Amino acid sequence: MAVKITDICINCDACLDECPTESIVDNDENPTGEDIYYVNPETCTECIGDNDEPACAEACPTEGCIVWDAREGASHPTRDGMIAGEPCVED
Ligand code: SF4
Ligand code: SF4
Repeated sequence: MAVKITDICINCDACLDECPTESIVDNDENPTGEDIYYVNPETCTECIGDNDEPACAEACPTEGCIVWDAREGASHPTRDGMIAGEPCVED
């Protein structure tokens, strides 16, 4: 699993520099073509070993924007008990 930025992202840039694995790119670099920021599932570690919660989701001002994700290609261990599509942090 990884985390995913959803289409309520307001492109505010608060998350990008918080990521310890440089897994976030801005809307101009989003490989899906959507006008929102993007998390690379192949390098996102869910911040395991770096933070108690995903640093991007803690920094994000948009409630529920960053969710747990089960995209193919996620190559890192996952936090227990998380459900794809659910917000990573409670506001
Ligand atoms: S959960 Fe952590 S590693 Fe994954 S994108 Fe967010 S800040 Fe980066
Ligand atoms: S902090 Fe949240 S709203 Fe801002 S760019 Fe990142 S995902 Fe989008």
